[in-house]
Amino acid sequence: MNNSLPEGLAAKFAEAKVRLHEKERKSKQHIERANLRDEVQFKATHGLLVVFFLWIIALHAIGLFLFTRGFLLTRLVLEQQSQCEISSIGGVVNSMTDLTLRRKHGCWHPKTFDKAVIVVIDALRFDFTVPYEARDNASEPHYFHNAFTVLSEVAASEPNNAILFPFIADPPTTTLQRLKGLTTGTLPTFIDAGSNFAGSEIDEDNLIAQLRRQGKRIAFLGDDTWVALFGKHFEQNLTHPYDSLNVWDLHTVDNGVNEHIFPLLEQKESKKWDVLIGHYLGVDHAGHRYGPDHPAMSNKLKQMDGVVRNLIEAIDSKTLLIVMGDHGMDPKGDHGGESQGEIEAALWMYSKKGIFGKYPGRAASVANPRPVAQIDIVPTLALLLGVPIPYNNLGAPIAEAFVGPDSDNWENLVQVNRITGAQIRRYQQAYAVARKEEVDGDSIASTYWIRGESKYNTLLAGGVPHADAEHWSSIFHDFSAFQEENLRVCRNLWARFDLVSMSAGCLVLAGSIAILAVYARGISGGRVEITGLFLQCIGIGMSVGALTAYVTGFVVSTKLSRTNTALLGTALGSMAGFACALVYIKWRLLPLWPTSVWGALAALFTVSHALLFASNSFTIWEDIVLNFFLATFGIGALVHSQRQSDLTARALGAYHSLVFLILVRVASLSKLCREEQMPYCVSTFYASATTSVSAPYSLSLLLLMAIALPSVIKSFYKGTKSYEGPASFWIGFSFRIGLVLNAVYWIMDAADNGEWLSIDERLLKATKMFVSQLILAMGFVVGQVGFAWAQVCLGIELSSKQGKKAPLEQNPTSKKISSDSGGSVVLLGYSNLHGTRFLLLVITWALPLILLQKPLGGISMGILLWQILNVLEIIDCNELNDSAIGPVVLGLLGNAHFFSTGHQATLPSIQWETAFIPFTTIVYPWSPLLIILNSVGPQILTALSVPLIALWKKQPKQCGMLSCVMVCIATFILYHTVVATSAAACAGWLRRHLMLHKIFSPRFMLGGVVLLVVDIVVSLVSLGALRWNFMAVAEVFGYQY
Ligand SMILES: [Zn+2]
Ligand SMILES: [Zn+2]
Repeated sequence: MNNSLPEGLAAKFAEAKVRLHEKERKSKQHIERANLRDEVQFKATHGLLVVFFLWIIALHAIGLFLFTRGFLLTRLVLEQQSQCEISSIGGVVNSMTDLTLRRKHGCWHPKTFDKAVIVVIDALRFDFTVPYEARDNASEPHYFHNAFTVLSEVAASEPNNAILFPFIADPPTTTLQRLKGLTTGTLPTFIDAGSNFAGSEIDEDNLIAQLRRQGKRIAFLGDDTWVALFGKHFEQNLTHPYDSLNVWDLHTVDNGVNEHIFPLLEQKESKKWDVLIGHYLGVDHAGHRYGPDHPAMSNKLKQMDGVVRNLIEAIDSKTLLIVMGDHGMDPKGDHGGESQGEIEAALWMYSKKGIFGKYPGRAASVANPRPVAQIDIVPTLALLLGVPIPYNNLGAPIAEAFVGPDSDNWENLVQVNRITGAQIRRYQQAYAVARKEEVDGDSIASTYWIRGESKYNTLLAGGVPHADAEHWSSIFHDFSAFQEENLRVCRNLWARFDLVSMSAGCLVLAGSIAILAVYARGISGGRVEITGLFLQCIGIGMSVGALTAYVTGFVVSTKLSRTNTALLGTALGSMAGFACALVYIKWRLLPLWPTSVWGALAALFTVSHALLFASNSFTIWEDIVLNFFLATFGIGALVHSQRQSDLTARALGAYHSLVFLILVRVASLSKLCREEQMPYCVSTFYASATTSVSAPYSLSLLLLMAIALPSVIKSFYKGTKSYEGPASFWIGFSFRIGLVLNAVYWIMDAADNGEWLSIDERLLKATKMFVSQLILAMGFVVGQVGFAWAQVCLGIELSSKQGKKAPLEQNPTSKKISSDSGGSVVLLGYSNLHGTRFLLLVITWALPLILLQKPLGGISMGILLWQILNVLEIIDCNELNDSAIGPVVLGLLGNAHFFSTGHQATLPSIQWETAFIPFTTIVYPWSPLLIILNSVGPQILTALSVPLIALWKKQPKQCGMLSCVMVCIATFILYHTVVATSAAACAGWLRRHLMLHKIFSPRFMLGGVVLLVVDIVVSLVSLGALRWNFMAVAEVFGYQY
């Protein structure tokens, strides 16, 4: 056919075709270029928003840092060391031979023993070692009773050879802190409690260093914390440390100690050392894993009983044997706090020499023993072994060890107390000099000392011709009173706070509250376009502030250190910059007080929650109060939804409000009571009050959750026909498989704990580890990468004209996009495009967060996910996307589930064992991170969900959506900032309160951790993930934000 056309026509035709093609290509290029421009613009805008929130994080970090510096004040550490040649009561040795002689016979006082075997049984509570006595007919012995009987048996049958005391620890009752106390003889500082994970070498004078300096050879076996603290003082070839942190391993450390300790006691080997230290960990680990009332504890204690019996056999009469606990444990087997069970350990001293007597003026009995402070072991051991008393020691010599078997060696008793007291005085003077303070000569303590000294001197000078017991005893009591009074004074002194630093911290935190309040609630219109202006002004203010502070730091000397002044200046300067920026947009400023009922309710919840911390009795009942707030919200939502004109909205609102209310009630059933809530509270989180093992029924609940939870989430997608695209694979398949694996993990764990299965323990452990690592990888690696690449949950439905009506007409959730000659194409899930995709992120995080909770905690997290979806629907039905109530309720939900996942604002309730879910040992930085994910998992899950308040059920082509998300995020952070600031300010205000370290300090620390974690998650993860969400939506519909 073509052949028949004329030549010219064919050419023209081809030309036209090329032109058309060119035009098409150009327009395509144009669109592509426009798209690229939009993308770059979006990314830049998004980046600025992230920077703005990074600034908020920096403000919070600076505020919390400054406050903490002033609040958890550390004691000044003196570097002086006691020396053999300079006794505390005078008498300097000049010649070398004298010194050698002194070392041989005892430095400041004649020694009693050449050698010592010191056995620490970690967490040996006093009541483990004494015979059980029934209080009434109904009470029965626990598993920990009558298992470790040797100590009390020998103390009763050979009172001159052995003596058993309740051994009172200073809180915090963590091993590292206790080892420091047991060797330096001084008081702990609160801030050190957190550093239990990585102990660093002690730079204060201590018993181990003194022993080493006087030429004693020290062998060490057991808990490797000792090696971190004193490693260089131990004989290298006689040291066998074992990893101390795997609290689920009951036997490795103990078997290791046993393997070496008995050979070392044999005649030939025992010449190689002078002091042998062994630290057993099995009792502590049995407590952490099972709680004290468990057969495993009974077995462990019986094993220790055998060990001590063998030790008694093995030692000679020149050797002192000491068995002690470093702290006790609470009824669940944990420790760290200051309850009676935690601070009351056992101390047992034994020698074949028969040196022990009775405390003067006290009818001694095994049934009513005298409690001894833990630091008292320091001067006691130093004097018994003939080494100088460590410089910083505040303890007293234990009288029973010096008064002689007939309890009449008064002179010796007075001597040791005088030597100890003189050292305490010497330390006190050096401390006053170091702090540039006056020595208080008229203090009560000084009065006791001076009185004792004058009596002593009179007696020595022969002023009392026939010195009798009465005279001696009065001197002894003066010296004792001096030591006790001095200890009391030091306790108060070191609880002193740096008010300047604390106020600076509070100031920065309060400033950040004002900024967030203005940014979140005080500006009309969008946030996106003004963020650039804010950042500019903040930058300028920050530079000016930092510079000013730096210069001021040189000119005037403030009470703050130079670094802290610079930090404060930077923070204040940047905040001033923000305030200046407001001048440029002043016509857009709104009043900050709430203008709607919901806004008022949100403000009321936030302020009331913050005010709880002003009272200890409200703080301890925080869990109940939070549930009350949530129930109030549920009822309010129920009432409000009934005023909607639309019938569907009314029905949905009522349904979701009711489900929300029921779930609040169900979640509140799981709880772990804190000590102060007793007896008005029943713990349900663990199988019983005396164990930390989960109840078997919680395992079946986990299986049930694996089946039900994905279906629940699916039903929320079905409502907008969004169960399309990646949704079914992510929710119906991956999430479900993950939850089943989670149930499998915890069932294996229970089997391992209860020894249900007869399969090899190692195989079971390896499988467990594999399953948990698989779940974590699913959530944190595959899930996150998958989220970045995931498409939107969008489906397409074709319908013909002849058929029934297109879904569009019945249901506003879909969008009809084209209609030609009789058929139409309908987009399913269009109306919730952003929300359904973003929820996938929350779900991927939920999986590992559920695994990292105990079984019942996992259930609580599942309920939380359901409640978050309820809240989103309630917000949508009642059109509350712009109100502050959504983010505040999410914040409350996160905090409420903190309690239902078995946590409390106390140190002992931290679930350390979480670190061993995916690993067998401590792995940095993952182990601390896992413990944080476990502790504040609920807050993290709600922080991830915050953008959904703005995105849920919103069509993608809507202006100002990103701004809306910013408002939600800022409101959410505002809530947490108010709570954390109040917790800090109240702890600072009530710093003299009796319950400071029991109630207010832990709550402040919780508030600080939650604030920082929430800040980071919401600003980096939630806000960061929005980038991919908007890009995925833009792929289909173009950029609109
Ligand atoms: Zn311990
Ligand atoms: Zn422990």
